[in-house]
Amino acid sequence: MKKIYPYIKPFIGYILLTLLIKVAASMADLIIPYLMESILSVGAEAGNASKVYLYGSLMALCAILGLCFNVLANRMSAVSAGKITKSIRHDLFKKTMHFSARQMDAVTVSSAESRLTSDTYNINQILARVQRIGIRAPILLVGGIAMMLIIDAGLALIPIALLPIIALITYFVTKHSIPLYTKQQTILDRVVRTVQENITGVRVIKALSKTEHEKERFNVVNSELNDVGEKAGTITAITMPASSLVLNLGLTIVVILGAIRVRGGHTEPSVIVAFLQYFTLILNAMMGVTRIFVMWSKAEASAQRVAEVLQLPEDQPLQDVENIEHSPAHIEFKDVTFSYTGCGENISHLSFRLEKGQTLGILGSTGSGKSTILNLLMRLYDVNDGQILLNGQDIRSIEPAQLTSKFGIVFQNDFIAEGDIAHNIRFFRDIPDEKLTIAAQHAQAESILAEKEAGLSSAVAIRGNNLSGGQKQRLLIARALAGDPEILVLDDASSALDYQTDALLRKALRENYRNTTTVLVAQRVSSLRHADLILVLSDGQVIGCGTHNDLMDSCEEYRIIAHTQMGAEGVQV
Ligand code: ATP
Ligand code: MG
Repeated sequence: MKKIYPYIKPFIGYILLTLLIKVAASMADLIIPYLMESILSVGAEAGNASKVYLYGSLMALCAILGLCFNVLANRMSAVSAGKITKSIRHDLFKKTMHFSARQMDAVTVSSAESRLTSDTYNINQILARVQRIGIRAPILLVGGIAMMLIIDAGLALIPIALLPIIALITYFVTKHSIPLYTKQQTILDRVVRTVQENITGVRVIKALSKTEHEKERFNVVNSELNDVGEKAGTITAITMPASSLVLNLGLTIVVILGAIRVRGGHTEPSVIVAFLQYFTLILNAMMGVTRIFVMWSKAEASAQRVAEVLQLPEDQPLQDVENIEHSPAHIEFKDVTFSYTGCGENISHLSFRLEKGQTLGILGSTGSGKSTILNLLMRLYDVNDGQILLNGQDIRSIEPAQLTSKFGIVFQNDFIAEGDIAHNIRFFRDIPDEKLTIAAQHAQAESILAEKEAGLSSAVAIRGNNLSGGQKQRLLIARALAGDPEILVLDDASSALDYQTDALLRKALRENYRNTTTVLVAQRVSSLRHADLILVLSDGQVIGCGTHNDLMDSCEEYRIIAHTQMGAEGVQV
C-alpha cells in the first residue's frame, strides 16, 4: 500500500478529520457500558431516582451521538476512498494508453483490464474499511481494556492474556493468504483473456464447431480460479471462528470467575454486567481488525499489481541521435535488425531507400515479417540494430506526436468503432465533411454511402458488424486518406476487395496522392506490381528487391507467386 501513498497524500487532512469523528463516535460507544454500570449500582440504592434519570439520559445521548458520528464518518470515508481510487484509475488508464507495444505485450491487455477494474476495487474497499474500522477497533480495544482495568483489574488480565493468541492467528493467516490472493488476480487475468477471446471470436468458434472445446478451455481456468479462491478462503476463514473461539472461552472464564467474586463479596453484579459489555465490544473490535487484515492481504496484492504498471518507466524515450545524411531519402531503413523476444531475428539486416511520392510494396508468406517492418517504421517497437530515417532524421529523435501525424495507416484487421460512417473516417480529428466524402471517393467507399440512405451519418454497429469485410476495409482506407498523410501505410488493406475495386483504388491513389509516399503490404502481386520498389520477404530476410520486372528476372520465388496468381499472360501486362 506504500506504493499508492502519493494518491492518499492529498486527502490526508480530510481522512484525519474522518478519523477524528470516528474517535468521537468510538468514545461515545465506549462510555455506554460505564454509564450502564453506574445506573445499575446507583439504582440499587434507594432515593437516587434523579441520578438514574441523569445517567439514563446521558446514555441515550451517547448512543445518538455515536450513531450520528459513525454515519458521518462512514460517509466521509466512502467519499475519500472513492476519490483516491478514481485518481489511481485515471493514472492507470493514462499509463496504459501510453504503453509501448512491447510493454503491452508484457503486461497483456486482459491483465491491464483487471488491474483497472478488480484491483482498483480491492484498493477502494480497503481504503474505506481502514477509515471505518481501522481507528475504531484499536480505540475500542485499548479503551475497553482500560475501562476493564478501572472497573476490575483482576478480571481484566483474562482478555489481556488472550490478545497475543489472536494476534498470532491473524499473523499466520495474513502471511499465507497474500501470495494466494496475488495468484488469484493473475488467474483472473487469464479468465478475462479467455472470455475476451471467446466473445471476439464467437463467430469463428461457432463456425468451426469449437464451442465445446472453448467451454472446456474456460472451465479449466475457471476451476483454477475457484481452487485458489477456495484455498485462500479456507485459510482466511480460520481467522474469525478461531478468534471468536478464543474470546468466547475467555468470556466463559470471566463469567465463572465473576460469579465466584460476586459471591465472595469482592465485586458487584453491575460490574460484571459492564465487564461483559466491554468484553463484547473488544470481541467485535478484534473481529474488525482481523477482517481488515484479510482485506489488507487482498488489497496489498492489488496495490502491488497497480504500482507495477504505474511505475513502468517510459519505454521509448526521445533519443538524441546524430543525423549526418547529405541527400536524405523520404524513408530509409539502414541495416535494420529486430527481434520481438530477443531470441531469433524477426527482421534481419534490412536496408532500402524510398524517395518522396514513391511506393514500396512488401510481399511474403505469413509470418515473414511484413507487419513487423510497418511496426518499426511507426516506432511501435525500437530497432535492435541499425537505423530508420525519415527525411534523414532518425525516428527515435522525432517527437512521437509529430511522427504519428505523418502517417495515414490501415493496420491488418483494424478497428471499426461503433457510431456512424463519418465518425469512423474522421476518428476524432478536425476534418470537415467534404474532405470525408472525398476520402471516401478515393477509397472506393462512395458506393457504401450511396447504398446507406443516411450517407455519412449512417449507423455503424459495434466492430462494424453491419458492414461486409470489403466495406470495412474501404472505410479504413478512407480514414487513412482523410488526414492527407505524408506517408500512407496499408497493411493487407485491400485483401477483401474484388480485383476491379482493388485496381480502381490503386488508380485513385496514383492520381490523387502523387506526393504521398506509400507502403503497401499485400498478398496479391497485382496490388503491388506498379510499386517503385518491391521487397520479397522470407523469415525476416529480404530474398528479392526491385521493381516488378527486375524481380520477374531475378527472383525465383516472386516469379512463381506471380505466375500462380496471374498466369503467364497476366504477368506481362
Ligand atoms: P501475415 O501475412 O500473416 O500478416 P506478417 O508477415 O505480417 O504475417 P509479422 O506479423 O510481421 O508477419 O510477424 C513476423 C514474426 O514475428 C512472426 O513469426 C510472428 O510470430 C512474430 N511476432 C509478431 N508479433 C509479435 C509479438 N508482438 N511478439 C512476439 N512475436 C511476434
Ligand atoms: Mg501481417
